[in-house]
Amino acid sequence: DAKFAAGQPAPQDLWEMDRRHALHPWTNFGSFEKDGALVIARGEGCYLWDAEGRRYLDAVGGLWCTNLGLGRKDMAQAIADQAERLAFSNTFVDVTNEPSARLAAKLASLAPGDLNRVHFTTGGSTAVDTAARLVWYYQSCRGQRQKTDLVAREHSYHGSTYLSQSVGKRPGDRVEEFRYMEAGIHHLSVPNPYRRPEGMSEEAFCDFLVAEFEDLIARVGADRIGGFFAEPIQASGGVIVPPKGYLRRMWEICRRHDILFIADEVVTAFGRLGHWFASEDVFEVIPDVITCAKGLTSGYQPLGAMIFSDRIWEVMAEGGERWFTSGLTYAGHPVACAAGLKTIEIIENEGLLANAAEVGDYFLERLQGLEALPLVGQVRGQRLMVCVENVGNKDSKEPLPDGANESKRISDAAEAMGLMVRPIGHLNVMSPPLVITKPQVDFVAETLEKAIRKVTDELVREGYRIG
Ligand code: PLP
Repeated sequence: DAKFAAGQPAPQDLWEMDRRHALHPWTNFGSFEKDGALVIARGEGCYLWDAEGRRYLDAVGGLWCTNLGLGRKDMAQAIADQAERLAFSNTFVDVTNEPSARLAAKLASLAPGDLNRVHFTTGGSTAVDTAARLVWYYQSCRGQRQKTDLVAREHSYHGSTYLSQSVGKRPGDRVEEFRYMEAGIHHLSVPNPYRRPEGMSEEAFCDFLVAEFEDLIARVGADRIGGFFAEPIQASGGVIVPPKGYLRRMWEICRRHDILFIADEVVTAFGRLGHWFASEDVFEVIPDVITCAKGLTSGYQPLGAMIFSDRIWEVMAEGGERWFTSGLTYAGHPVACAAGLKTIEIIENEGLLANAAEVGDYFLERLQGLEALPLVGQVRGQRLMVCVENVGNKDSKEPLPDGANESKRISDAAEAMGLMVRPIGHLNVMSPPLVITKPQVDFVAETLEKAIRKVTDELVREGYRIG
């Protein structure tokens, strides 16, 4: 097994090093061993360049995260300055550092309601994982040791630790080779209006979903349910915008039954929907806990946070005797927190929430034009969070057989034309940086249309019936 020569490796060598030695998240072993992975070398604004020098407009936004766009000197400088001043110091027990303290205070000022307490993590999964354990801890402190069941929804994604992946339930992720925690976790129906039962109005569908939650509480007992987890818009489960009023009604049920409402805003916070957080500004919900990550540093550093209410803090802190025995070495990492502070400063100074709102509305509108294509069942989303759902038949909404692999083929075709969109199941998903411009949106819409047409023609030639 030959090792690689020292010095700057050629693009082909990088590809081969990776293919031989790396295990990527969500890898299919067969195709990885055959095709390896595209090596990305550089990024600037909405664009990426691969190791061979080809340019792509990254409509995926990294992975729902490069909100400021890449290659910013001011971000690089803030990170370098902090790395030089204090690259690391832990925040266990009674030690802290300046960026961590300042970012906690800043997040408290931006978060809704009395969400004034912040626990830093390394990303979204660890924020959700900690939030689930916070539910147990808090309920126990109140003398409700039985009130520990968790409720979430089908097709949700909350991360990839054992606990966060057990709270989430995207169908394709549940493989028999892994284990998931089943006891004490309940999943309600996915609030996807496009796939609601035939003949049911959206209002009636919303009533059904709300009643399903009420029924679960009646069956299990409000004294046994501690927390409800919801992405305001389900992201990687298919950009699912729930029926109007759904989230607020679910929140009202939680308040009535004394169940903590955890908004997983890992994707929806920091501007993707035109606001710092979507819970209150978009959905009129003031959660008890918000989990966030991704856009918090715009992908320049790994960082997550669990932001929770003063009320929760007071219950846990009562008596002054307890220990919160949970936390990660890199909690409150000074360099990551400096990147978070700089990200927020740039979003404020450059009016990027307003840009996300304006260009985001144009983005959705422009992409909705693709619904005219025979393969496209629905284009949905909000602002800079959009997906195209492909179907074999628009009336029945029946997807093509999995073997058609149309979403991956569309992404591959788009990639060859300089555009990156993400295939998930029968969807092509997009979440571009907040700095995307209208001409760049036009490029995305036009290129994706060409890619869909090309793949549709191929599928028809292969004998698939579409339309
Ligand atoms: N929660 C949501 C809603 C997400 O979309 C993700 C990642 O995509 C996570 C949690 C997990 O975050 P991370 O991958 O940073 O651990």
